[in-house]
Amino acid sequence: TKYVVFDKTGTLTKGVFDVTGIYPGRDFTEDELLEYAAYAESYSSHPISKSLREACGELDARRATDAQEIAGHGVRTMVDGHVVLAGNARMMDDSKITYTKNTGTGTVVYVARDGQFLGSVLIADEVKEHSKQAIAALKAQGVNPCLAVILVGENPASQVYVRGKVKDCGECGIKSLELRMPETTTQEELLAKIAELAADKTVNGILVQLPLPKQINEHAVIDAIPPEKDVDGFSPVNVGRMQTGQPCFLPCTPAGCIRMIESTGTKIDGKNAVVIGRSNIVGKPAALLLLAKNATVTVCHSHTANLKEICANADILVAAVGRAGFVTGDMVKPGAVVIDVGINRGADGKLHGDVNFEEASAVAGYITPVPGGVGPMTRAMLMKNTTQAAAMQNGVAI
Ligand code: NDP
Repeated sequence: TKYVVFDKTGTLTKGVFDVTGIYPGRDFTEDELLEYAAYAESYSSHPISKSLREACGELDARRATDAQEIAGHGVRTMVDGHVVLAGNARMMDDSKITYTKNTGTGTVVYVARDGQFLGSVLIADEVKEHSKQAIAALKAQGVNPCLAVILVGENPASQVYVRGKVKDCGECGIKSLELRMPETTTQEELLAKIAELAADKTVNGILVQLPLPKQINEHAVIDAIPPEKDVDGFSPVNVGRMQTGQPCFLPCTPAGCIRMIESTGTKIDGKNAVVIGRSNIVGKPAALLLLAKNATVTVCHSHTANLKEICANADILVAAVGRAGFVTGDMVKPGAVVIDVGINRGADGKLHGDVNFEEASAVAGYITPVPGGVGPMTRAMLMKNTTQAAAMQNGVAI
């Protein structure tokens, strides 16, 4: 199977690239791919599409219409650092294959309909790249950013999240301290550890992985993290500052959602935005950030009446429910931007989002995948906050 391949900037690096096995069971002719390219261009001003257009030259209207059909569901993914594009009416199956193959190496880019795409991992990469550069500049000035991550107990999901954060730190040049405390840790012991890190000038960010064992009061713990080291953005001072529109550390997941929505070129201003979920860490702050961007925001929760109808009217739909496949295709407005925050471990052992991807992606304009969407973006935002914390605490501008 051969595909036209472009690098991240949209430059044609190889006319045709053999990716046999990446999309098994589907063969594209070169013409099909080029037609798809023309179609993508007509939909998007993304530099990748521009290059595709240049590469394939002008196509007549009829061929462009054919391309539209071929590319009814476009596929773009990363292979060895290249963006691979292909038109495929059976995208859903293929995209799943792609994720399974590539998620581990963080190469999945996007998912979308109609040749438009939301490059979640690519965006996360950009944010991380920016942090990397800022960190290099900080180091040149003698500042060595450091993030302390505290994990209490053995929660398997938390262990995975902490590993991911530590790995990201390594990639960005941030020193990380992974502090593991036993399940039986008392609140006093945890508060003492936080006080120690708060006083340590070499530690710029403190993150306590939630949830905590039941003998520990989460609020007391979050309150104990000094606002200037609260890179999760959960402390009351940062929450209050966010609510009143003052500079602060924004919570990573909701801030990442906004970033992803904006990356599509969608103007949030004046749009109907619906957030399903009202937790302090996702739903409420996501709603506040959308409001700050002048969306008309509706927050749904377990007591909401007519939830389906409300969602079906959303130009922007953020799902943070914690229930696999909660958002079905009939709850999505055609062309809507759908951000799936949910991470739910299914009986099959796999991760599932809150959105029924197969149904919703047939209707949505943009949709984020799980895994590979909000998750990596959240981690990238944590790197950004930690970098900012280090700069601020050392009085260095970045
Ligand atoms: P919570 O359990 O704290 O909140 C869930 C929200 O969904 C609540 O507000 C609840 O309403 C609402 N809800 C539950 N059932 C329904 C229903 N049947 N109808 C309408 N609303 C409902 O979860 P979180 O906000 O912490 O997390 C949500 C999801 O996002 C989880 O899957 C979590 O794993 C994931 N997550 C992903 C992150 C990432 O980086 N990608 C980061 C953080 C979370 P009510 O308030 O009335 O109970």
